[in-house]
Order: sequence, then structure tokens, then C-alpha cells
Amino acid sequence: MTTEVIITGTGSPIPDGNRAGPGVLVRSGDVTMQFDVGRATVPRLAAVGMWNLQLTAVFVTHHHSDHLTGLADLVLSHWVMARGDDFTPMQVVVPKGPAVDYVSEMTNPWRHDIEVRAEHSARSRPVEMELIAFDPPTSPTEVWRCGDVVVSAGPVRHEPVLPAVGYRVSTPDGDVVISGDTRVCDEMAELAAGADVLVYEAMLFDVIRQGPPFRYFILDYHADTNLIGAQAAELGVPTLVLTHLIPAPANNLAPALGSAVTEQHYVDQIRANGYTGDLLVAKDLDKVVLEAGSAPRIERQG
Ligand SMILES: [Zn+2]
Ligand SMILES: [Zn+2]
Repeated sequence: MTTEVIITGTGSPIPDGNRAGPGVLVRSGDVTMQFDVGRATVPRLAAVGMWNLQLTAVFVTHHHSDHLTGLADLVLSHWVMARGDDFTPMQVVVPKGPAVDYVSEMTNPWRHDIEVRAEHSARSRPVEMELIAFDPPTSPTEVWRCGDVVVSAGPVRHEPVLPAVGYRVSTPDGDVVISGDTRVCDEMAELAAGADVLVYEAMLFDVIRQGPPFRYFILDYHADTNLIGAQAAELGVPTLVLTHLIPAPANNLAPALGSAVTEQHYVDQIRANGYTGDLLVAKDLDKVVLEAGSAPRIERQG
């Protein structure tokens, strides 16, 4: 058995023709889990063979639109793609707070479309999800399990957005931690201690500081790449994946954010702070493969 960690979207709120909104797919045997569902997640899932969109569960980190705008598309497309009444609602796991309101209401504006489609295609089952809301934890806490896969949520620091969590996925092949959006903080260290793969949101603070002051507010609640390097080195995590890249390498808006950047900018800051493990500055659909007994393996998509 293997566990694959596929970065379905490496983007952020900044539009980018090559990067979908934030999302990570973890496939461990038959268990398929999507963490956040940013814009254009559905075509990325189709690109890795999940055209029927039958995920075991979807997990939400926090209530920011860039992490959620693909979720209604995913739930509706899953229902449309199902054959007749052969439809199994997906579990959607959400920290209690505004994201629960959003998820509960997000298909309502489509109710007329849903009604007409259901009648026209003779489906008796409506669009359904199994919403699993959990109390925002104060330390890493199990929130979901399926077979031998366990998912824990831990608090992260993304104020003023509350609550915000990261997730730790424990599989027979190893442990994967997904930061969601956060500053580099002690809470992340606690969630990621001993993990095999750490997927971290990353921002180049020096580049943002070269840009216009009206954007400096984003420095309040994102992860400084220098600090990520130092924390990953201290944790000794074998494989580090950077995503939610601001600015994104080769993004044609990068000059507006201060300067054009490359993947090497990220690599240099991580290495300068002592991290010597495997490092991936991700593009969409890059992946890490875990197998019990061997080191995680990075596979790039060209
Ligand atoms: Zn975000
Ligand atoms: Zn956010």
C-alpha cells in the first residue's frame, strides 16, 4: 500500500492561470481525503483520475474564500456525475464557526437548478453532504477516522480569522501535516512534530515588504519562508512541501507584488535557515509518495 499526497492547488487569492486555489489530496489505499477546495479543484481531481469526485471526506481549514470557492462545485459536480440514485454523500469535516454556516448554505442558491435536474434525470436523492462539525481544538485532537487512517486537527495562528486549524493525517505509510493558513508558530510545531511530510503555506516576506504598504496587512497572518526553514530544521521533518505561494513563481502579477520571483527564492530562504531535508516548492499536481519502510519520494509533474 502507498499513500500519495497530491497538491491539487498551489495558488492563493491572486489569480494565476497555472495554479488552482489551495488544496491537498491525500490518497491512502481506498481512503481519499481532500483538504481545502480552492478554485478549479474539480479539474485537478479529474486530472488524477478522480473524475467521479467520490472522495471519502473533505476537510476545511478555515473560512477564507480562496480555500472554499471550489467546494460547491465539488459537491454539485459529484452529484451530477453520480448515476441515478447511486450517490453516496461525501463527509465534509469543518471546525465549528462561520465555515459551517457557509457549507450548510452553499448549495441553496442552486436549488432551482437542482430541482429541475433531479426531476429531469429521475433522481430521488437530492444534493446531500454529511456535515461533520467539530469544536475547534486547543491542541491536536482526533476529529475523524476511517479504517487505519486517522485525521487530527490542531489550532493554527491566522487571526483575525477564527477558528483556523491545520490537519495531521496518520496513515500506515506515515504522517502528513497540512498547515492551512498560519503564521509560523508553536502550535504548528506541536502539530508537525515527528511527521514525515509537512505541507506548509509560504510567503516571501522580503518581497512583500518591497511592495506597496497597503498590502503589508497580509504579513500579519501568513508564514514567513525564513521561519518555515528554521522550524522545519528544528523539527527534523524529512520532506517539506511549500504551497499557497505568495508571490507565486512565474506569476505574471509578481512584479506588482514587489519583484518577479522564482522557486529558487523559496529554496534559498529555506536552506539559509538550516533545513537540509527534501524540499518541494510545489506546482499543481506535484506529489509526494509515502511507503512504509522507505523515505517519502517527491514526484514532479514536469
Ligand atoms: Zn489562503
Ligand atoms: Zn486564509
